Amino acid sequence: MVTDGHNHTKHFSVDAEQTIDELITSAKELGFTRIGITEHFEIDFPEDGLDWQFDLNEYNETFKTWKKKAGNDLELLKGIEFGYQTHVASEIDRTASLIPFDVVLLSVHLFRGKDFYADRDCYKIPAKDLHKEYIGMMAEMCENCSNFDVAAHYDYINRYTDNLSDFVTYWECPKEFDRFFEALISKNKALEINTKSIQKHKERGFSRTLPDPDILNRYRKMGGNMICLGSDSHIKGSLAVCFNEAVEYLKSLGFTETVYFKDRKPYFETL
Ligand SMILES: [Zn+2]
Ligand SMILES: [Zn+2]
Repeated sequence: MVTDGHNHTKHFSVDAEQTIDELITSAKELGFTRIGITEHFEIDFPEDGLDWQFDLNEYNETFKTWKKKAGNDLELLKGIEFGYQTHVASEIDRTASLIPFDVVLLSVHLFRGKDFYADRDCYKIPAKDLHKEYIGMMAEMCENCSNFDVAAHYDYINRYTDNLSDFVTYWECPKEFDRFFEALISKNKALEINTKSIQKHKERGFSRTLPDPDILNRYRKMGGNMICLGSDSHIKGSLAVCFNEAVEYLKSLGFTETVYFKDRKPYFETL
């Protein structure tokens, strides 16, 4: 089983419900020998009554006890997921060096400074324009930040739309995707396929649920070969959701490997 590199626990991610014990148990039941834990850390997030940061030193210390709990048959990778905004780019790069991480994820969780989980005004914009601006932000994030390993869930903008025909495609915004991939590939960073997005597309009745093949084909054609898989699990029982079909899909497109990060270095796994 290839590594699930993107998961959260309630101990450090304010929106997660699963405990580390539940996550370790799920991982062992599913036969994983390695998973990544990537807790949320938002810098200058809009006020919503929640604390989207945690004490990095406490995390570093706690992780040692988690590794012991997991034992020798399950390796835990210590990660973090930063939320990108233009004005926090240098602060992300600085913060990512404060403790030793295995893997650093970058995400865009806001659109024009608003959390679209809570405020869905952005969905009044035509889908094509919305996607173009969002992928433009993904590109900017990868251009402006350096101290990261993975660009997470490029399709997150679609998670809360009410319009079931909306789907992020390459041909809506080829220039933005090319900028995004150029930055990733030139910096040796990885592109994440977020399998929770696939599950959300299914749950919500989308006609298409897997990533647009033109996106992945273009990434590969430009020289991209670093794909990470992450289920972005927050609750018990959601580890590795839709993993098998994502793996089969990648294989069908000609990908032969995925990648995970340890000590900030990439390791490839055969699909
Ligand atoms: Zn995220
Ligand atoms: Zn996440």
